[in-house]
Amino acid sequence: MKTYQTPAAMQRAAQVWKRAGRRIALVPTMGFLHDGHMSLVREARRRVGAEGIVVVSIYVNPTQFAPSEDLSRYPRDLKRDRALCRAEGADALFLPSDAVMYPGRDLGAYSTYVVEECLTQRMEGASRPTHFRGVTTIVAKLFNSVLPDVAVFGAKDWQQAAVIRRMTTDLNFPIRIVVAPTGRAGDGLALSSRNAYLNPEEREQATVLIRSLEAARAAVRRGPVPAAQLGKAVRRLIATAPAARVDYVEFFDSESLEPVTEVRKGTHMALAVFLGKTRLIDNGRL
Ligand code: AMP
Repeated sequence: MKTYQTPAAMQRAAQVWKRAGRRIALVPTMGFLHDGHMSLVREARRRVGAEGIVVVSIYVNPTQFAPSEDLSRYPRDLKRDRALCRAEGADALFLPSDAVMYPGRDLGAYSTYVVEECLTQRMEGASRPTHFRGVTTIVAKLFNSVLPDVAVFGAKDWQQAAVIRRMTTDLNFPIRIVVAPTGRAGDGLALSSRNAYLNPEEREQATVLIRSLEAARAAVRRGPVPAAQLGKAVRRLIATAPAARVDYVEFFDSESLEPVTEVRKGTHMALAVFLGKTRLIDNGRL
């Protein structure tokens, strides 16, 4: 497994692979890898086959964190990440530094951003106003570095995947976007690097996210429910966990992300909940 640390070195390697007719799959991550990430690596391998190249990028992208967020304490363990990627059969790691991704950023000299203006208005975009600008910018830069044929993202970040898909279409990247299912712990909690922040009580109460999704699923099985009513019921359920505080609960169309007033089978639900200071998200089709 080879490691590349600059866009230029990564591009040179990618061009050699392309000339040899090898397809490239990219799995972008912020590291501190868990089995949810590794399931994306396995999906990437399925997409390009044994002859293809699977590249995992690990980069904690500063522009997608607000100044008040957890950039400086975001968990990191490169040694372990490397071992996991090697064990999973990844071919290459792309580990760029801030200095190569945002040249001159501290001097204010970095000035080109990619902004998606439609799908980013609600949910994560509303709660974290600068987040998606950072995401679309860094993913575009990763695409331009790794030159993948396929890029694999997790359904755990449903809105992010929709935004990336839109950006890929709008900017004509010749890349197939694949969205792989959410990996979960035994009790249903979506795997996340941020779960490492939870203390034992918060970890136990964090199942309120999956329990909310399941309760909403059960409710719509009996027929359509007004979104306002179901939203209230979900908030009441979340309030039973003392450490939990709702950021948002939304019901929307899976593809367009347009909010609905009537929730029925097949409507998508997403929620963001603080457990203590840790903000967790989850989503699913009802
Ligand atoms: P992150 O390292 O959190 O930025 O995530 C990198 C990629 O892994 C994104 O495409 C996420 O959607 C995906 N991902 C994170 N958690 C999970 C999970 N539990 N299951 C599947 N994919 C995930």
